[in-house]
Amino acid sequence: MFKPFRKEILETLRCPECKNKVTLQSDQDTKPSRQYRCTSCTWISPDTATPDFTPSEGLKLPNFAKDPDLIRFNQHRQAVFDYSHQHPLVSLVEESGHKTIRSFRQKLATAQNKTSFVLDLGCGDGAHIPFMLPADIYLAADINMHILETLVNRYPEIPAIRADGYDLPFADNSFDAVINVYNLEHMIYCDLCLEEMARVAKKDGDIFISVPCEGGFAWSFGRYLSTAKNFSEADFDYLKATSLEHVNCIWQLEKAIKRHFRIEKATGFPLPYMPNSLSLIKTYHCKLAS
Ligand SMILES: [Zn+2]
Repeated sequence: MFKPFRKEILETLRCPECKNKVTLQSDQDTKPSRQYRCTSCTWISPDTATPDFTPSEGLKLPNFAKDPDLIRFNQHRQAVFDYSHQHPLVSLVEESGHKTIRSFRQKLATAQNKTSFVLDLGCGDGAHIPFMLPADIYLAADINMHILETLVNRYPEIPAIRADGYDLPFADNSFDAVINVYNLEHMIYCDLCLEEMARVAKKDGDIFISVPCEGGFAWSFGRYLSTAKNFSEADFDYLKATSLEHVNCIWQLEKAIKRHFRIEKATGFPLPYMPNSLSLIKTYHCKLAS
């Protein structure tokens, strides 16, 4: 059943075309409308169960985004997610970023003791939801509508929106926290995404980023023993597809994060102070650079 966004979310939403405020399309008949419209231009969101706030023209992606192995891999992404959630060791690695962010936030929440308006950018199928804090006003955003449908089926009460990480449909200075888990390694224009995260976060807000240590020995070896082995018989070349979709290695990402934020805390998994080459996951708590 359609449930309109709560006030806090509605107020921060912006038209993906002209960046002005939006409102719920007024009722034309007895059925309440689930579409949003711009208060300034002619934009109306498509009539989808999960609102679609992506701009009509996204950034042009390089030609390798059309690689057949990558396309087939993307079609099987849910199977890769399901394998990772179910495999005891892989799920432990996957959960580590979520757990670390929860622990970072719990320490801050004790200090601040207040409700937080949180954007989970690149939320995927909702892996971070069990790790949210009780007082959070949470909004899940992702570019992939298919994955968002899985999230909404799993967590019907969670507000979710389709959004483009390079062009977020939110007002400046909106969120107390922006969470971005296992996402930046995929972003071809990662600086643009970091810039958008900085824009929509409140000036004193917290940014939490978790990324795999792509390019490092431990990550490559772990992948070889788990997903690559599991999907070796699939109709796509798993190693080729992941080399195309993980466009940024951990060292590039760490430099990029530092270009946009001040890192307050960084910790690795399985051990906090392991070098990136021997870590599997790295998690950062950042503030806006002053
Ligand atoms: Zn507009």
